[in-house]
Amino acid sequence: MSDQRADRALGMGARITRRDFLNGVALTAGAALIPPEMWAAAAADLEAQNVPGYYPPAKTGLRGSHPGSFESMHKVRDGAFWTDAPNPVDTGESYDLVIVGGGISGLAAAHYFRRAAGDKARILILENHDDFGGHAKRNEFRAGNRTILGYGGTYSIESPAPYSAVSKALIEELGIDVPSYPKYVAKALYRSFGLKPHIFFDKETFGADRLVVNPSYVGGDESHTSYVAGEAELRAFFQDAPLSAKAKQDFQALLKDEKDYFPGLSSDQKKARLARISYAKYLKEMVGASDELVKLFQALPHTSFGVGIDAVSAQDAWGFGYWGFRGLRLDPSPGKGMNRDTIPNAEAEKYFFHFPDGNAAITRLLVRRLNPSAMPGSSASDVVLAKADYSRLDAPSSPVRIRLNSTVVKVKHRGDPSTAKDVEVTYASGKNVKTVRAANCILACWHVVIPYIAAELPAAQKEALASAQKVPLLYSNVLLRDWTSFQKLGANTIYAPGMYHTTVSLDLPVSIGGYECTRKPDEPIVIHMMKTPCKPGRPAREQHKLGRIQLFVTPFETYERNIREQLARMLGGGGFDPARDILEITVNRWPHGYAYEYNSLFDPFWLEGGELPCQVARKPFGRIAIANADADAYAYMDCAIDQAYRAVGELLAS
Ligand SMILES: Cc1cc2nc3c(=O)[nH]c(=O)nc-3n(C[C@H](O)[C@H](O)[C@H](O)COP(=O)(O)OP(=O)(O)OC[C@H]3O[C@@H](n4cnc5c(N)ncnc54)[C@H](O)[C@@H]3O)c2cc1C
Repeated sequence: MSDQRADRALGMGARITRRDFLNGVALTAGAALIPPEMWAAAAADLEAQNVPGYYPPAKTGLRGSHPGSFESMHKVRDGAFWTDAPNPVDTGESYDLVIVGGGISGLAAAHYFRRAAGDKARILILENHDDFGGHAKRNEFRAGNRTILGYGGTYSIESPAPYSAVSKALIEELGIDVPSYPKYVAKALYRSFGLKPHIFFDKETFGADRLVVNPSYVGGDESHTSYVAGEAELRAFFQDAPLSAKAKQDFQALLKDEKDYFPGLSSDQKKARLARISYAKYLKEMVGASDELVKLFQALPHTSFGVGIDAVSAQDAWGFGYWGFRGLRLDPSPGKGMNRDTIPNAEAEKYFFHFPDGNAAITRLLVRRLNPSAMPGSSASDVVLAKADYSRLDAPSSPVRIRLNSTVVKVKHRGDPSTAKDVEVTYASGKNVKTVRAANCILACWHVVIPYIAAELPAAQKEALASAQKVPLLYSNVLLRDWTSFQKLGANTIYAPGMYHTTVSLDLPVSIGGYECTRKPDEPIVIHMMKTPCKPGRPAREQHKLGRIQLFVTPFETYERNIREQLARMLGGGGFDPARDILEITVNRWPHGYAYEYNSLFDPFWLEGGELPCQVARKPFGRIAIANADADAYAYMDCAIDQAYRAVGELLAS
């Protein structure tokens, strides 16, 4: 087939994700009636977020770190920003607190500061993206007259470690009743159609394209529909999987494995060994599993760590419940150097809540608290369909202002940091560079950014901040005309270790606050596809760095083509036609995604103890305090909230 015909078959020419933009502002249906020259004239006088029709959640195409959000900061990093920047203009604005970063940590910091300092405290949040929320990103789609929501980043209220008391209290204060979650989720929906988790074997990795039922907890079950594979699934898997007889034998042996690979060592000694060897190596060298099995398991930890089993310790694999450890008879207590994600905790597992737009709902509830005029409604459930008024976010009349599309490029005390009364914060917004003053400043942005913008921090602290390499991730949301192909294939979630996106899942069916999930296979639905652009075989931080570059240099067209091709291959047997069935695509690109969590394979200090880089990084300095999930090297929302709470406390105490 010619390239052009192949593209047509994929639907590459379809008129989706091709919204027009004017100065970065989407022309929505009503706004499109206004002649372009009037737009230009109006927009020249307004901050982008105040232009009528400004509504970033409805944008499709490339989201996450979208074009326009990162260029200024990259120029600062490269030492190129100040060479062609105009002189900063003093806005004359001064605040009790300026917060850099409008993610959950920044919003929570505003909340805590206000609670302590009173409702009149004047707070400004500066955020480089066109929306607030940071990683907690709302993706909104329209299908006919229906709104369909997706999560572009943070998925749910959850934490593998017991949820922090501080964060739990905030969640309750926002009116979210976590234990009531079962009321909202149609837990048995997909099961009622006979759908089960599947694995897609691809021909490049396994010799044949084949969709096979998942025999166990391979790849997880994103949709939390209590899938427990039984004998029938095991039989079907071993019959259908395009694995060699040896690999199947190895897998069967692994499921029943009782061998002690470290005879004579104590449980602690065994754990210490496991902490220093990757699971891939353990499988190959200790268990003697075939390469095919290693390839099959390679992407298992992607969703948690953004790397595969080559860069996750065997001790963490044991914690996750992967195979090959039963014969070691390890005592169940956590081993030294285990990741918090992999230490099983029954209490933590029960604390779970998913809004249709993920934890974007939390950020919207926080915004409502900070500035009620920007987020109508009064309950934790009505926020799901509430239409945010972005033009109110930075209203001068509001004590708390959120200024979007504003990249902070410099933060500096006016005078000696130990005695200075305030800090000057400089930010770039479009072609303008402006300054504001702050009696207090919280850096709730990514830690890697801080050494570039707060040059006056001590060198050791800047080094610690710079080590917080984020984990790159891709969260693609695809609006489908229907999900009959999933129904025909009997799959609700697919683990695809050799494909571009390694997990693909039907939306978690949650109905809340008037929002109704899709219940019938012939109705439109959002599917969620996840990729971690890791480079197996290298140290984790190096994999993250390479993956980050890959995400930045990949054009949207390539993402789109990969999505269409992958879905056609996986779902073709169920009648899926990408040209017909794909209605919209939103690719949430997170080159700076999860907070980096320490890894016993690559971070000796994590095993040895002592002060951690994140503890050095988060020390307050003069009128500046430091928040963000990076501040405790833990990629969960409760961490971002805890660190906001601590940072505010430090400022108030000083
Ligand atoms: C894809 C993904 C899925 C996740 N899923 C979950 C989940 O299901 N449950 C969970 O608990 N946690 C999850 N996490 C982790 C959780 O989202 C984070 O811990 C939390 O949202 C981090 O909030 P934050 O405010 O610390 O950081 P961010 O959300 O990153 O916010 C920081 C903000 O600062 C901005 N910023 C950076 N530099 C500047 C600058 N110079 N000027 C102005 N602004 C700047 C950034 O653009 C960003 O918006 C997920 C993370 C990712 C990336």
